[in-house]
Amino acid sequence: MVAMLVATSYFGNRILRHVRMDVRKLRNEGFDIVVHTFSENDLRFYRKSVRDIVEVTKETGMRVWIDPWGIGGVFGGEAFSDAALHHREWLQVAANGDKLPACCPSNPGFQGFIHEWTDAALETGADAVFWDEPHFYSDETERIGCYCKYCQDLAERGEPAIGSFLREVCGKVKSRGSQNVVCLLPSSLERKDTLDWNEIAGLESVMNLGSTPFWGMQGADPEKYVDLIGRELMGLASRARVQTHLWIQGFRIPAGREEEIRRSAIAAGQLGIDVIAIWGFDACESMSFLSCERPQMAWAAFLKAIAQLRDRHGRSPSTTVREEKTSTGDRLGDN
Ligand SMILES: [Zn+2]
Repeated sequence: MVAMLVATSYFGNRILRHVRMDVRKLRNEGFDIVVHTFSENDLRFYRKSVRDIVEVTKETGMRVWIDPWGIGGVFGGEAFSDAALHHREWLQVAANGDKLPACCPSNPGFQGFIHEWTDAALETGADAVFWDEPHFYSDETERIGCYCKYCQDLAERGEPAIGSFLREVCGKVKSRGSQNVVCLLPSSLERKDTLDWNEIAGLESVMNLGSTPFWGMQGADPEKYVDLIGRELMGLASRARVQTHLWIQGFRIPAGREEEIRRSAIAAGQLGIDVIAIWGFDACESMSFLSCERPQMAWAAFLKAIAQLRDRHGRSPSTTVREEKTSTGDRLGDN
């Protein structure tokens, strides 16, 4: 039987003795996976530190997914990009020819940089690379999408830019004996022209596919939104025989609305999602921009949901389906 696993992201602290305390707490609270961020800043200044952080996390018995947080402005995350600042030749290009403040995933220079990052990420000893919300730059005035020559070449050949990028980077990780977890922005559900979820789910090198149905950012109903995205995900994941994960919004939840966290996590668990994750550790208490208004209550709401799901779903019918998936597909790895 493959049980539901529980994950959280962890960031903002590079002091090993504090990390050690925090990951032990997470293990005691029932977590199985920690997503550690590995930004451009980390790549430059904290390479060995992140390796140590991964090591102390794995010592607790938890798994580690490593996240190219905010790299190039291509991935999700509250991190600045030095690459976008210093390599103007790597930048995305708007329809009118203007350079945009994010690197282009189709650009060979940026792809070389991602290979360098990937080498360092695998050196940390993480169990999987967590490809965090790869996306094109967008703001209110610009259409999503890049008009650089590399993207135009791909478009002429009918190849989607982000799909091609992920096939390349995931293939490299897999060939090095590691695993890939891909997390897609839910908005792409309505934008099949920029990113086809089925195509990503069908990549042989992808072990686990997920999304970030952060209801508070969309003004959506928490359970309905998580359920909507979760169903879409489960449908294509069962066809492609890939595991699934969903992120529960554990940031910027106002006082009095912590119950939304519990209800959404339950909704995800009831769908049979393999990994239920919260962004992020201690409801982001350490980052004022992201913190929930009452982080301790928000965190407790998530822990309560997990306890309820583990109680309720110890012998759920969906267990059978996951047994079949595990026995037939080597893509599922040993999660
Ligand atoms: Zn481009």
